[in-house]
Amino acid sequence: MGRRIVIVGGGAAGIGAAGAAKGTDPAAEVIVYTQYLDAAYSPCGIPYVHGKEIPDFERLFLGTKQQYVEQGIDIRYETEVTAFDPKAKTVTVDGRPVEYDSLVVATGFTYADPGVPGGELSGLYYVKNIREAMEWDKVLDGVRKAVVVEATPLGLEMVTALCHRGIETHLVDPSPWALSMATDPDIAKPVEDSWVELGAQLHFNTKLEAFQGSGGALRSVRTSAGELECDLAVVCTHKVANTALATAAGIDLGSAGGIVVDERMATHVPWVWAAGDCIEVPHGVSNVPVQGLSGSHAYAQGKVAGVNAAGGRRAYQPVYVPWGMVAGTWMIGGVSFSETLATALGIPFVMGRAQGISRARYFPGVQPVTVKLLAEPGSLRLIGAQMVGGEGIKERADFLAMAVRTGITARDLATMENVYSPAIGALNEPIALAAQDLLARAGT
Ligand SMILES: Cc1cc2nc3c(=O)[nH]c(=O)nc-3n(C[C@H](O)[C@H](O)[C@H](O)COP(=O)(O)OP(=O)(O)OC[C@H]3O[C@@H](n4cnc5c(N)ncnc54)[C@H](O)[C@@H]3O)c2cc1C
Repeated sequence: MGRRIVIVGGGAAGIGAAGAAKGTDPAAEVIVYTQYLDAAYSPCGIPYVHGKEIPDFERLFLGTKQQYVEQGIDIRYETEVTAFDPKAKTVTVDGRPVEYDSLVVATGFTYADPGVPGGELSGLYYVKNIREAMEWDKVLDGVRKAVVVEATPLGLEMVTALCHRGIETHLVDPSPWALSMATDPDIAKPVEDSWVELGAQLHFNTKLEAFQGSGGALRSVRTSAGELECDLAVVCTHKVANTALATAAGIDLGSAGGIVVDERMATHVPWVWAAGDCIEVPHGVSNVPVQGLSGSHAYAQGKVAGVNAAGGRRAYQPVYVPWGMVAGTWMIGGVSFSETLATALGIPFVMGRAQGISRARYFPGVQPVTVKLLAEPGSLRLIGAQMVGGEGIKERADFLAMAVRTGITARDLATMENVYSPAIGALNEPIALAAQDLLARAGT
């Protein structure tokens, strides 16, 4: 038997690590521990099953347990690692030590505790585990009124899903607009308007004060703006790194609350790597550590950790964080900084904004696309973007993330070449229009 690589976590990071480790060292024994009954499924699809856009949960399973067995990956389901000892190079499972040569910590995230009374009531839904989601989906059939707590990315998806489900849906968020950490109010506005059209009731600038119930079941939430009757509260607070295991073993945490790793995903402790939502990584523009990114980040980090844990050599790049989703009847997305966030962080910028269209103006299905760009004063290097539109947001977010990463300027974007084909692209690319506006505002 070759080296033993133990991975704690069967989410995107853990599964990415397992596959990459086995690929790098086929002789290695790769053991994955997960608290869940399943490993290979996409939690990202859960809100869309609840919203009935995806017909069943079975489609979210990406592979069978047998496929992992055939790949030589030994997944121990419903098994908790209760501790690890970096000196002895062991993890503790069922009270007994299991030796490792390399360890990958991929323990992921938990939702931030809302920190209000009533957290023990039934009727509070934290969307994560697919088996629990299947049970909650049955509960949704009988729900009349629901409150979604916080307009995070998951919150946006759940408001949309519950409206599609015909449930009276209230969104409660302490900020003045949706997704305020990533967007500006003008970008969020069409989404908010479309929620209202779908029947949602929005309570911004509103603090959650308590979950209230009777007989152990949720009956209402108390907020700073009054009481909201409800049968269900979907708690979509921000993600926090699940680091209990790592901290107990003496692994360093950073300023964002995640495990500190180098570009090879190595912790400061020999033979221990970490990846996914339990770590923090530097932002490519500000160099400030960020945590709790996306499943695609977790998977890519897991692969880097797995390669290195198996004796290979691979580095992870700083992140620029492209993001995007469907919210209400719109697509919304961006990369790195909004005006609001850049201002809060004291990052100077020049802004450009334009509304274009997604196809030729005469082609059926043409949709508006608003693009807002932020560039560094002087150099006009792109440092952020936001978009809202009817289609084509994901591709633009990915493209603009690469533009930020490679130092492309608003001048480059203002004269970019673009595809014009009536069914898929307009003569004037909205990104180029926003860049031209930015140049005009910059006086160049
Ligand atoms: C509802 C939902 C929607 C999402 N939508 C998107 C999306 O649209 N796009 C996107 O990119 N990402 C999405 N994500 C992904 C998500 O936001 C995270 O980035 C991703 O799940 C992080 O993966 P991870 O492997 O780091 O951690 P997690 O997914 O949190 O997995 C952690 C794993 O660690 C295990 N574990 C923890 N502690 C122990 C222990 N002590 N012993 C044994 N096992 C342990 C858990 O059982 C679990 O298997 C979504 C997630 C959810 C839940």
